Amino acid sequence: MIVNMSETATENQIEHVIERVREAGFQPHVTRGATKTIIAAVGAGGRRHELEALQAAPGVENVVAIAQPYKLVSRQTKPMRTVVHVGPVTIGGPDVVVMAGPCSVETREQILSTAHAVKKAGASMLRGGAYKPRTSPYEFQGLGEEALKLLAEAREQTGLPVVTEVMSTEDTDLICEYVDMLQVGARNMQNFALLRKLATTNKPVLLKRGPSATVKEWLLAAEYLLSGGNPNVVLCERGIKTFETETRNTLDLAAISLARELSHLPVVADPSHGTGKPVLIPPMSKAAIACGADGIIVEVHPCPERAWSDGPQSLTFEQFEAMMQSLSEPLRGAAGLSLARSVGRAAAAD
Ligand code: PEP
Ligand code: MN
Repeated sequence: MIVNMSETATENQIEHVIERVREAGFQPHVTRGATKTIIAAVGAGGRRHELEALQAAPGVENVVAIAQPYKLVSRQTKPMRTVVHVGPVTIGGPDVVVMAGPCSVETREQILSTAHAVKKAGASMLRGGAYKPRTSPYEFQGLGEEALKLLAEAREQTGLPVVTEVMSTEDTDLICEYVDMLQVGARNMQNFALLRKLATTNKPVLLKRGPSATVKEWLLAAEYLLSGGNPNVVLCERGIKTFETETRNTLDLAAISLARELSHLPVVADPSHGTGKPVLIPPMSKAAIACGADGIIVEVHPCPERAWSDGPQSLTFEQFEAMMQSLSEPLRGAAGLSLARSVGRAAAAD
């Protein structure tokens, strides 16, 4: 349930309602807007009728049910958009954020050269896998801590904050020592033990949509993070499984707009895994931004044909640079349709 306080509600009246929500057996989550305060009563096993009765408490405008099963993630609970800070980078603000880097960290030379190249082209965050979820146990599984050290070195040299995937609860504390943002991979979207663990960290989380997950399931996965105490969550659409076989996955553009409608959390798109084809990455990046995406995450490799994972979908430095230039051009050449938002430039100075 949500208790909407009136514009004229006093601090005492707000405090009183918060207390009453606790007494009724729920956890109060308070959102203070410019003019109004919203108190969401969340949890199971409380006494609902006591919340409904708060309609009569001083300073209360109304008490309404939260329509969706995801409570804290819903825009009903928090109408203002969430802005997530990752080091000097802001996700969910006016600028589109570009995260770029290899699928996997392979060598010092590979990750450092990529970090410098993507920064030069205008990316504002570096991606790179240290622990890789591979379909086959015989494929490269990631360099682990060695990769984390190299990512930290790349950040030191470029100033780009780093995002990397966490696959298990046991690795979380170690990974937190090295990186700025934790990625929950598509295959782990419903690893509830992992979500609960990441909820207790102080790092922002990039939550990928599972390949077969509905938007509701995706938002409920985010609810695990928020209800567990971590409000800094960015959703990532990375394509879903459909009957189509020409593309690796089907990038669900509507889900980007829908997630931003249903939730206050920022949403980014991953056109690399979403299509599996370099030629489709620039147009799908533009499409995602036109759909409201707050950013994109793209795989870039110094030599895709030699990549240890996801080479066929990785952009070369040149392709990435050309894409970055095209992102700031009008959507349709002479038609003059321009992107509503600018692509953010690397925050750190050259
Ligand atoms: C990745 O980012 O390299 C990755 C494995 O992504 P996903 O979990 O979306 O497949
Ligand atoms: Mn990959």
